[in-house]
Amino acid sequence: MADKKKSAAPKKEASAKKNYYSVNGDKLERVKRNCPKCGPGVFLAEHKDRVSCGKCGYTEFKNKN
Ligand SMILES: [Zn+2]
Repeated sequence: MADKKKSAAPKKEASAKKNYYSVNGDKLERVKRNCPKCGPGVFLAEHKDRVSCGKCGYTEFKNKN
């Protein structure tokens, strides 16, 4: 009998930062928004009724629907 190695466990090496982008296919857009001024890498902070960039101060109000 050869030794059986379980290789089903996912690698723990994946960086946590990747979770921001690679969610599930097309759902990633909703997770975090990038600042349109600062560009990719700078995320907008979520507030109750708006999102804002802590870097440049850009603010965008959410549409209540
Ligand atoms: Zn910004």
